[in-house]
Amino acid sequence: MMNKKVMIIGGVAGGASTAARLRRLDENIDIILLERGNYVSFANCGLPYYIGDVIEDREALFVQTPEEINKRFNIDIRVKNEVIGIDRDQKEVDVRNLITNETYKEPYDTLVLATGSSPIKPPIPGIDSPNVFTLWNVHDTDNIKNFIINKQPKKAVVIGGGFIGIETAENLHALGMKVSVIEMLHQVMAPLDFEMSEIVHQNIRAQGVNLHLGDGVSKLDHKDGVTTVILQSGKRIHADMVILSIGIRPNSKLAQNAGLQINERGGIVVDEYLRTSYDKNIYAIGDVIEVTEFISKNKTMIPLAGPANKQGRICANNICGAEEKYKGTQGTSIVKVFDLSVATTGINEKILKRLGMKYKKDYLTALIYTKSHAEYYPGANPMAIKVILNHYGNILGAQIIGQDGVDKRIDVIAASVRLGGTVYDLKELELAYAPPYSSAKDPVNMIGFVGENILKGLTDVVHWKSIEQFKREGYLLDVRDIDEYLDGHIEGAEHIPLNDLRSNLDNIPKDKKIIVYCKGGLRGYIAERYLKQNGFNDVSNISGGYVFHNYKLFSDDI
Ligand code: FAD
Repeated sequence: MMNKKVMIIGGVAGGASTAARLRRLDENIDIILLERGNYVSFANCGLPYYIGDVIEDREALFVQTPEEINKRFNIDIRVKNEVIGIDRDQKEVDVRNLITNETYKEPYDTLVLATGSSPIKPPIPGIDSPNVFTLWNVHDTDNIKNFIINKQPKKAVVIGGGFIGIETAENLHALGMKVSVIEMLHQVMAPLDFEMSEIVHQNIRAQGVNLHLGDGVSKLDHKDGVTTVILQSGKRIHADMVILSIGIRPNSKLAQNAGLQINERGGIVVDEYLRTSYDKNIYAIGDVIEVTEFISKNKTMIPLAGPANKQGRICANNICGAEEKYKGTQGTSIVKVFDLSVATTGINEKILKRLGMKYKKDYLTALIYTKSHAEYYPGANPMAIKVILNHYGNILGAQIIGQDGVDKRIDVIAASVRLGGTVYDLKELELAYAPPYSSAKDPVNMIGFVGENILKGLTDVVHWKSIEQFKREGYLLDVRDIDEYLDGHIEGAEHIPLNDLRSNLDNIPKDKKIIVYCKGGLRGYIAERYLKQNGFNDVSNISGGYVFHNYKLFSDDI
């Protein structure tokens, strides 16, 4: 009997995972992996760090070579072989050998599409100038690296403030370049809500990187090795090199031409077993597919390495006879932005609003500004945590920014979300504690406490965006210490430090709405509780404290 023949198109995150798992499960399958690039199983996520010399050895980017994979797993790997057509009736693909330019047909029993995505290159005038690059694969990386070595650029413009753009900006900055980042939206890093992104904006600017928000690129003018990037606002920025990082689109043309179902964003539609819609012999995984967003259960596209790898494993299991479901993508991610770590999981407020949900009616938010570990132990750093929850306490999403310990906090919350956890669970979690690592009440517990207090009505939080309205009607009370107050406060705020509150009750109006704030929310909450228990009925605390209110000063657009 002939061996079953599984053909995989695309040999990096999803494709390589599928191939390796298949072989571990079944020695008797013929596995062919076709990759149009020069390399398989390379570390896309490491590319920006190779450019910035953080990863010095180019070879380190290659997780495994075709020879190594073949030796270990007996997989027929063909690099520089591009699949140019799929004949579903004949169950064969047309392949072009990119070295000889010859084409040939290759039959399959089962096909896996792991073709990934490609950077978008909009038809802006000047986009094809020789110093304009995208960063997506090893070839792009070599081009950028060689350009830097040969031309010694001093000024770089990064177009796009997504995670790849920001990582690249940081790495070019590390090489000594003057870097400008241009982002059409009013914030970088779309998975964050605006107030959280302001922390990132401040940090990027503090490093000396120019950040142009709310401004798109209209044109690139290339002359004598210098490109002038002309923004829609009319601003002109000179650059020796430009990195274009404005987004990606799925490589789904093959699937589309083969008559498989594609969504409006070009994503291949798959069922929960990762099989394509009209052909159960064809699976698709990775960046190229439409996924179910884990929380909302809406269909979307979430191109990340973790999901691609996991889908590869599930796909291989199913090819070998399992009936394993892919349960959806949560979008858990983390990015290093200079000395900050910026992490998210689940959905953000922007998405909820787009879905027609209303703050307070449909969802709530808890925001804290805390320390990464016990304050008395050296090196404790600020950490901002935002959790979005529904009225049952279910966690819909979380965003964390800080210098230290962000990764473990987001992973704890991400795991809780995956297991259907609530903020009540967060407050109960027993997490590892010693002063160098955490506090006896870990930041994850703290956000759970705050969430519980909000749900149980122990605190009324007001969002920083509503302050102007409350200022007109109410009494704004700053309970921070005098030096903090003098350092900057919300205009019109009265100042009574928390420890003097008990002796100053007579100076606070009982007939007005009172809005209290401190730096990060905790002292404001203590003041709120004290006032509420002393005859002040209408008291609220500013969510996340002055830190977050202050960020609004950068923009009123959101
Ligand atoms: P890919 O890994 O892109 O592989 C697809 C392969 O298919 C490509 O090699 C392509 O050449 C090949 N191919 C396409 N069409 C054909 C064809 N017709 N014939 C033959 N071969 C074909 N994700 C994270 O989660 N964390 C990170 O930190 C992170 N950092 C990143 C940094 C960079 C610079 C980049 C580019 C990506 C990063 N990602 C990160 C995203 C992550 O790499 C992708 O989500 C993941 O690689 C997707 O896996 P995939 O298998 O779907 O596609």
